[in-house]
Amino acid sequence: MSFFLGMKEQGEPDKPWRECKLRSQIITKSPAETERFAVDFAKSLKPGTVLLLIGDLGSGKTTFVKGLAKGLKIPKEILIHSPSFTLINEYLGETPLFHVDLYRLESLREIEELGLEDYFARRGIVLIEWADHAPYLWPKEAVTIRFEIEGKGTRRITVIP
Ligand code: ADP
Ligand code: MG
Repeated sequence: MSFFLGMKEQGEPDKPWRECKLRSQIITKSPAETERFAVDFAKSLKPGTVLLLIGDLGSGKTTFVKGLAKGLKIPKEILIHSPSFTLINEYLGETPLFHVDLYRLESLREIEELGLEDYFARRGIVLIEWADHAPYLWPKEAVTIRFEIEGKGTRRITVIP
């Protein structure tokens, strides 16, 4: 698998995605490929980064989060909360990972009450699934990652800085 980027389509030579300033895009052909992309993506993340994950149910957001945790070398045992009952999971590795899932929260008020600003200040990586449920709350330097279902096993992932 290789990560084909928007930049490459514009005639740039192959580069790691992280050198690209413009939006970059990859097509993955299995959940394992999405995870591997996330593992690679994790290596370049600086503490304090907020990632906004948007895309339909089943488009691969949680699969990406798993890969990211793996890339940050976060052992599974450090999972503090059960993912099915909480909205915010904290994975306390060397760089902590905060995983927020807003799927069940529809109103802006409910989301505001989570106090997510506290997480933005904690020098970890903050991942927000369904960030489009509260489009006005995010720091302006947050990076959006869009997931699209292209086919049965195929997903298009676009990183929009
Ligand atoms: P979301 O969190 O966006 O709702 P999940 O990551 O939980 O999505 O689920 C993605 C589903 O799509 C899984 O059932 C997974 O097996 C399937 N899938 C098929 N192809 C891919 C792919 N290329 N990348 C990620 N998931 C895929
Ligand atoms: Mg999910």
